[in-house]
Amino acid sequence: MEINTSYRLVKKTLEKPETLVNVSGNIIGGDEFTLIAGPCAIESEEQIFSIAEFLSNKGIKIMRGGAYKPRTSPYAFQGLKKEGLKLLKKVSEKYGMKVITEVLDLSLLDTVYPFADILQIGARNMKNYHFLKELGKTDKPILLKRGMDATIDEWLLAAEYILLGGNEKVILCERGIRSFDNSTRNIMDIAAIPLVKQLSHLPIIADPSQATGKRDLVIPLSLAAAAAGCDGIMVEVHNNPEKALSDGPQSLNFEQFSELVEKLKMQLAVSNKKFLPKKIKSELIQQ
Ligand code: PEP
Ligand code: MN
Repeated sequence: MEINTSYRLVKKTLEKPETLVNVSGNIIGGDEFTLIAGPCAIESEEQIFSIAEFLSNKGIKIMRGGAYKPRTSPYAFQGLKKEGLKLLKKVSEKYGMKVITEVLDLSLLDTVYPFADILQIGARNMKNYHFLKELGKTDKPILLKRGMDATIDEWLLAAEYILLGGNEKVILCERGIRSFDNSTRNIMDIAAIPLVKQLSHLPIIADPSQATGKRDLVIPLSLAAAAAGCDGIMVEVHNNPEKALSDGPQSLNFEQFSELVEKLKMQLAVSNKKFLPKKIKSELIQQ
């Protein structure tokens, strides 16, 4: 008997047209547009508090920050590890923001779990099937990055592993794929966004920071991804990008991040997505 090896659980059907992922009270998917922001890596108490204060004033509800970093060179900054997780917790409590941070491998799952509202699974791990199976047993939302060499099918099958384990809270993240042209760090596959929306019920967000590697390209690519119908954006922001220990060239400075928020507001006002709820907008105006 021939066995159908294609994805089943992540497939969009009439019965299951879309999944909304609840991140400790914040919905990702449906008619919500979520902007996740923060540094590539947590570097110090001063750095993370400065960025968190800025982002919370902008109405950001979910902050990113890497504590364990997958770096190409073993000599590059590897993250503050447990110390970074503790700092992330401290800022999230102070500013009331939820946090997303990467789980670098299975041996770190128990360490990272209590500190994260979303577990980030990096592009380099998208094909780590044993790891994906174990993630299926957790009850936390998972952000599954697309592997840099992964087809859409392989990516959806990777998500299938997690759903098959019993965890339906998967958010897909397009972060660019490798090609022959290194003018940008990766090639951001904008077409993947509406295509995945046709194929799967899972929410999909875009990461134009890893995709382009250049901060000046992050705003236009964020707007393009939003126009293509994604459920949100995750961007890297730094209080001093020139001095960043990781991914400085692709990190937005505060001024650029403010510009991004304003431009997204204008663009999403004519879409069917809600971005920064009215309550937050009026709070911002009062300040
Ligand atoms: C990151 O988000 O900082 C990161 C390392 O992402 P990716 O796994 O997409 O390279
Ligand atoms: Mn990064």
